[in-house]
Amino acid sequence: MAASTVRSCDVLITGGGPTGLVLACLLAMEGVDVVLLERRTQPRGHSRAIGLHPPALAVLERLGLASTAVNEGARVHAGAAYSRGRRQGALSFERAWPETPFVLTLPQNRTEALLSERLEQLAPGALQSGWELTEFTEVPNGEQQGRQPIQATARATNSGSPDPGVETHWEAEILNGADGPHSLVRRMSGISVQAKVVDDTYIMGDFAQPPPIPNIAKRQRPFFWNQPVLWSRFRYPDGCAVGWRIPAQR
Ligand SMILES: Cc1cc2nc3c(=O)[nH]c(=O)nc-3n(C[C@H](O)[C@H](O)[C@H](O)COP(=O)(O)OP(=O)(O)OC[C@H]3O[C@@H](n4cnc5c(N)ncnc54)[C@H](O)[C@@H]3O)c2cc1C
Repeated sequence: MAASTVRSCDVLITGGGPTGLVLACLLAMEGVDVVLLERRTQPRGHSRAIGLHPPALAVLERLGLASTAVNEGARVHAGAAYSRGRRQGALSFERAWPETPFVLTLPQNRTEALLSERLEQLAPGALQSGWELTEFTEVPNGEQQGRQPIQATARATNSGSPDPGVETHWEAEILNGADGPHSLVRRMSGISVQAKVVDDTYIMGDFAQPPPIPNIAKRQRPFFWNQPVLWSRFRYPDGCAVGWRIPAQR
């Protein structure tokens, strides 16, 4: 039978995507004893979200990561729309935030790597990869019993763990759910969500070589509307992602 241990921290975060990583870094900078549980053991392989807008860059600035991100990324100053082979118009990104007059493109997996490295500097060992939160309870009046209010269980995931299935029990003052769209923390907390299901199909792929598009300025992000499909190219430093939106049959 797998052994289990009990550990404690002030804030236990579930989910090592960009939300959980940023929160963990900000708390660690304030000296908070934070632990972040992430069930994956490997970084994600695909670009996912690419555009970092000025407010996100301001957060990276607070974490001391903005200059690295800007040096690694590509600056996009405008979006331009094309239809039937003709340019229909362009929207400049330069006036919304004059001090940062661009959207930076950097693949999300690279942003996550920068955040993970920063968290390791700020709080070595805080990022616990290969651990999945499986359940938690809130102890009423826990402090009167000398206990922290959150009792949580994490299980070592199978991939890469030397001891898969082993459990760790956590006590924490606060549990934060940054565990994505199917959040266990949200569901177990009874927090409802209003979601609209869109029947359209959205396909995205990473490419080493951007498809050649003549007469498109390098610092523009183009959108093409060739009915019924809308597609766009997101250039990043060593490749690009292309996204296609295909409307559902109505
Ligand atoms: C193909 C694709 C393209 C995208 N393009 C864009 C885009 O262009 N622009 C944009 O704004 N957004 C885009 N997104 C969405 C963007 O990736 C998400 O909004 C973003 O990842 C959300 O970050 P998050 O940290 O909140 O959640 P997530 O990135 O979903 O991270 C949640 C983390 O929690 C972990 N986890 C879940 N449950 C548990 C558990 N019980 N225990 C431990 N860990 C757990 C997961 O492994 C995951 O790492 C795209 C997404 C995809 C898939």
